Amino acid sequence: MATTAYNPFENAQIQFDQVADLLELNSGTRELLRQPMQEIHFTIPVKMDDGTTQVFKAYRIRHNDARGPGKGGIRFHPHETADTVRALSMWMTWKCAVVDIPLGGGKGGVVCDPHHLSLTEQERLCRGYIRQLFTQVGPNLDVPAPDVMTNGQHMLWMLDEYETINNGRFPSMITGKPVGMGGSLGRKEATGYGVVYVLKNLLKELNIPTQETTASIQGFGNVAEYAARMYTELGGKVIAVSCWNQSDNQAYTFKKQAGCDIEQLAQIKDDFGGIDKEKAIDLGYEVLPGEDWLKQEVDILIPAALENQITPAVFPNISEKVKIICEAANGPTTPDCDPLIRERGITLLPDFLCNAGGVTCSYFEQVQCGMNYFWEIEEVFEKLESAMTKAFYAVYELSLEKDLYMRDAAYTIAIQRVAEAVRLRGWA
Ligand code: GLU
Repeated sequence: MATTAYNPFENAQIQFDQVADLLELNSGTRELLRQPMQEIHFTIPVKMDDGTTQVFKAYRIRHNDARGPGKGGIRFHPHETADTVRALSMWMTWKCAVVDIPLGGGKGGVVCDPHHLSLTEQERLCRGYIRQLFTQVGPNLDVPAPDVMTNGQHMLWMLDEYETINNGRFPSMITGKPVGMGGSLGRKEATGYGVVYVLKNLLKELNIPTQETTASIQGFGNVAEYAARMYTELGGKVIAVSCWNQSDNQAYTFKKQAGCDIEQLAQIKDDFGGIDKEKAIDLGYEVLPGEDWLKQEVDILIPAALENQITPAVFPNISEKVKIICEAANGPTTPDCDPLIRERGITLLPDFLCNAGGVTCSYFEQVQCGMNYFWEIEEVFEKLESAMTKAFYAVYELSLEKDLYMRDAAYTIAIQRVAEAVRLRGWA
C-alpha cells in the first residue's frame, strides 16, 4: 500500500530538520532528536500449528524518553521495516509532546501478515515478542499499545507473558487492553474520535458547518471507522471509503453519493479493516479502484491508513473542492507534497496532532491502572475532547500568529517541549 520510493524515516527527519532550523536548535539537541536513542532488532521463532517453526523479524525502537517513558504501538505488517518503525517512534515523541502528556516516543513492529496466522500462532508470536523484549519494556520504561493490525487481545497476551516472567501484576506495562482487563472505556474509539474533535474545532474556526461537509476516507481500520462514526454523528457525510481487500490482494473504494452507512460497513468488515466487496455491492455501493478515494469531490480528505499516500504524483488528482486534509494516519503525506498543499490553500491537520487521541487515552488508561479505579465513559470522552481541543488551539493559534503551516506549528510546539526536557535533564 505504501509507496516504497519514499522512506518514512527520511521524511520524519526532513520534517524535523525544517523546524529545527526555524528554532535554531543547538547542535547537541538536534543530533539527539533527529534519531532514536535505542533500537532493538530481533527475531521471534514461532512454532506453527503444523509443527514447523517460522521466524519473524521484529523491532522495538525508542526515539526519546526525556519527557517520560517511551510510548507507542506495535504494528503487525508484512512490509514493516526498521526505518518505518524509526519514523513512527519519532512521530510518537512529537505526538505525546503536542498533547502535553508526560510520555516519550517509541514504536514496535513485527514483519508478518496476521491474516495468515491462526489465533494460536498470533498468541505465540505475541508471547515470543515479549520473551525477547521484557527487559526493555515496562510501566516506567517503554509502554506498547495497539497499532496497525494489532488489538486488545494481542496486548493482553503480551501483558500476560510479561507478568508471568516478572511474577506480578503490572497493568500499566501496556495499553489498549480489553475493558475489564485493565483497559479504559473509550480506548477503542479514542483515536478516531480524537481526529474528529480536532476537525470539529477547525471547522468552527473556518465557519464551515459540519452538516454541510462531505468527506472521503482512506482505510477502514479502527481509526477510520470511529472517525467516520463520530463525523457522521456530527452531521457530516462520508461519500467514500477505501480499504484493502484481502481476497483480491488489492484496495477498492466503496462509494455512496448519498452517504455511506458506517454501521452497515462496520458489519461487513473483517478483523483487519477490510470490507467484503460482494456484500458492499449487494448493499448498493459503487466499487471503484483503491486510489479513487483521493479523487472525490469532497470538502475533507481523511487518510487513515498507512504512510506515503499523498505525494506530488497523486496531488493533481485531488479535487479543487477539497478544503481540509485531516491526517488520521501516521505520515500519510510526503514532505515534498506539503508545499503543494499549502500553495493550494488546503488546511492540513497534521498527523501527530490529529491522531493523538489514541495515545492520550492510553495515558488515561495508565492513570486508571495506577489507581486501580476506572472512569465512566463520559469522563474519558470529556477529558479526551478537552485535551485534543487544547492541543488544537495551541497549534492553530501559533500557525496564525507566525503564519506557519499547521504541520510546522505543531512541530514547533512539540520540539520546543522535548528540547526543554532534554535541557532540564542536562543532556544537551
Ligand atoms: N498506535 C497509536 C498511535 O500511533 C497509539 C499509541 C499508544 O496508545 O501508545 O498513536
